[in-house]
Order: sequence, then structure tokens, then C-alpha cells
Amino acid sequence: MHEQKVKDLSAEESVLTPTYASREMTGSIPKHTIPEQSTAPETVYNLIHDELIMDGNSRQNLATFVTTWMEPEAMKLMSECFDKNMIDKDEYPQTAEIESRCINMLANLWNSPDYETATGTSTIGSSEAAMLGGMAMKWNWREKMKKAGKSTDKPNIVMGANTQICWHKFCKYWDIEAREVKAEGNRFTLNAEEALKLVDENTIGVVVIMGSTMDGKYEPVKEVAEALDRYQQQTGIDIPIHVDGASGGFIAPFIQPDLEWDFRVPRVVSINASGHKYGLVYPGVGWALWRDKKHLPEDLVFHVTYLGGDMIDFSINFSRPGNQVVAQYYNFLRLGMDGYQRIQQACQDVALYLSGEIAKLGPFELITNGSDIPVFCWKLKDDFADSSNFTLFDMADKLRERGWLVPAYPMPPNRQDLVVQRVVVKEGFSHDMADMLLQDMRRALAWFESQPGFIAKKEGSHFHH
Ligand SMILES: *Cc1c(COP(=O)(O)O)cnc(C)c1O
Repeated sequence: MHEQKVKDLSAEESVLTPTYASREMTGSIPKHTIPEQSTAPETVYNLIHDELIMDGNSRQNLATFVTTWMEPEAMKLMSECFDKNMIDKDEYPQTAEIESRCINMLANLWNSPDYETATGTSTIGSSEAAMLGGMAMKWNWREKMKKAGKSTDKPNIVMGANTQICWHKFCKYWDIEAREVKAEGNRFTLNAEEALKLVDENTIGVVVIMGSTMDGKYEPVKEVAEALDRYQQQTGIDIPIHVDGASGGFIAPFIQPDLEWDFRVPRVVSINASGHKYGLVYPGVGWALWRDKKHLPEDLVFHVTYLGGDMIDFSINFSRPGNQVVAQYYNFLRLGMDGYQRIQQACQDVALYLSGEIAKLGPFELITNGSDIPVFCWKLKDDFADSSNFTLFDMADKLRERGWLVPAYPMPPNRQDLVVQRVVVKEGFSHDMADMLLQDMRRALAWFESQPGFIAKKEGSHFHH
């Protein structure tokens, strides 16, 4: 190992040492043990700052759903609250009050019948919120079964195979059987007919996703609810719906306000959403809301007091930063309904434009176009998939050379044979940036075309660039 002999620098010398000529900068720093000695703050700042250059550029990250741009005023507020612990409601009652207002605002946004006494909590993200929603359904189901003198050994939950990993975690951690509606043909999400085949008296609930991470499509909340209404009429079994609105919870109310997916549907008992996705806050904040007190079992809830009031503590974490909740409140006040509507519409406009242009490039066929949440994906047309010298994984690699992160991945069971590539359009990804991406896609296609083994099987299958 390379060890550098270090001489002690006098105070004056250390100040005068050129930034990149200091001993920490000219040798390597320990990576797996805490260094013996302290190091000057500016030196450490530079070291770490430089290392982080190797990360992808978040603004070119079209893979993530998570917010990558916020206004400077929001960042200022956030940095003012880095030191506040969200759980200390009594010590930071105003932050607690702000959380409570956000919950009411969301309850109102999601058409809760009683939004001023809304029941809900902030979380670290949708994953925690989904756990909480799932637990509440499990507790309620168990109570119902106990009352009926029935076994509580085999709870199951019904959802699409396209669910986000948090639901698989929920099933594993809480010992619930996952009953998945598999993808079939060109259907990659859950539908009412298939969901109904899987439910029984041991079903704690059905998870319906507003904005599938796989292809950006909304699942049909109302149709599933109606099917479960019929099922209840026939069998007497009452099965609740939890809506995973991680993305769509902050999209549909603004750009598809007539779509009934929220508490307007009586069977929807709880909803989660990610404040750090289309809620437009940096990670991590999520929200879990219940239709009313009745649907959140008292047995699960701890109570904390603040300003003499009472607040529920239903969470998996204890300590958590307060600043994202404050930033969520900033966005609500700053943007208002009008601002959110304009931003989400702008995202959708860019998504529709970009998907339309990608469809025109030649080798790609859209699976979705961004008309639900502003997320869409495409596949290689069959004649290209069979006969060309590149895959969507190669395309993703090629785009990465220019810094774009546009992931390729297989669809969920039973369509893992199908590989797609996806774009998530977020605030800060402008029309102009979409044009730059298109230009780089054309460049990539021209490169593949210039390489050995390129075959476009059908007449007219050549690219347009
Ligand atoms: C992102 C996402 C999640 C997980 O949310 P986090 O906020 O990242 O924890 C859950 N469900 C869906 C549909 C998602 O898109």
C-alpha cells in the first residue's frame, strides 16, 4: 500500500497550501476505516464533492419518479429545518401543526367526506405509507374474522403483478399471501374481472394502483369497486380497497379531476401518495390517509400531545427530518391548485410530445403514451427485435454516454419476455430537454445502423433521422 510520509504543516503553511496539493488530495484517503486524524473542512468538502461527480446527473435521470428540482426558497426553508425531528411534536408544535394542515389539504384534495377531521400521517415515502395502509386492513380483517369466530391464519391481499416492491415487502414482513393478477398479452395491470377471481373471505383488501410504475397506467379503481360491490351482494363479504396513488395521487386531482378513484368511491378506505414524486418535494416524504377514524384501528395508533392537542403516531420510524413536510406545505401554499395543475399539465404535454416523436423514430412501438401519469414506455417493434443488432438495453447504454438515464427492464410476470424502455417526465424536464434527448436517440440509432449486423427486415423499416 502506498503510504505517504506526512510532515506537520505550520498553521500558516496549511492555509497557503494549494487546494489540490494538500496531503489528503495527493494521497488516497482511507475508505474502510475512520481516519486517525481530523482533516480541514474545506478539504473534506472538496474530496466528497468530487467523489459525487461520479453519480448520474439527477436532471437527466428519466428513470426516477422522485423530485429533482425545487425552488431556491423551498431549499432555504428546508435547510432551516434540517435540525427538526418530525416526531418531536411537543417540542416543534408548529411543524406538527403544518403536518396536520397538509393532511387536511390532501384529504380535501382526495374528496374525503370529512376533511377537517381527516385521519392520516406523513411518512418517509409511499413505501412506509403502504405498510401502514396494509397493516390497518390486516387488523380490520382480523377483527372481523374473530367476531365471526373464523380462522385468522391465512390472510391474503390481491394486487397486480405490476405492484411496486413495497407491496411485496409488506406481504413478506407481515406474513400475508400475495395473490397477483398476472400480466397477459397487452394487459400489464390489474382489472376488475381478474381481481375478482382471486378474492375470498381471507382477503384483507385489494390494492389498486393509480399510476403503475411499469407503464404509467391507471388501474380502474371504480370498476374494481363495483365488482367488489357485486361480490358483497352475492357473498356478504366486504372487501376494502387501498389505492396506491404514489404518483397519481398528485396527478389525477389536477389534470383528470373527473376521474373517480379517491374517497368519492365508498369502497376506498385508504390512500397513499409520495410527496417526493409529483408532490414536487425532494425525498423523502409520503402520505397515508384513511377515509375516516373507523378505518384506522385504534389498537395500532399511539398518541402524542402537542400544544395541548392530540396527534396520532402511526409510523414505522421514530425520528425523521421535519424539513420535507415543511417543503410540502411550501408547495401547497406557493403553487395552489392552479400551480399544480399547470405543472402537471406541462409534464403531460412534454410526455405526449416526446412519446409521439419516439414512435416516429421507426424501430419503437409505444405501449403507453403518458396520458395517465406523465410516464410512458415502448418496446422494439417485432421486426427489429428479431433481426437487429441492438436491444433496448443497448439503447439505454448508448444514451448513458450522453448522461441520460432511460432504463430498460422486463415487464412483470407473465410477460417477462417483453423488454421495455421508460421515461418519467417530471417538473424541470422541459420541451427543449426532450428535444435534446430525441436528438441523442437519433444519433444512437444512426450508430447502431452503422455497425455490423444491422438488419431492418421490412421495407421502409429504416430509421428517420
Ligand atoms: C414509487 C412507488 C412506490 C414506493 O414509493 P416511495 O415513495 O419511493 O417509497 C409505491 N408504489 C408505487 C406505485 C410507486 O410508484
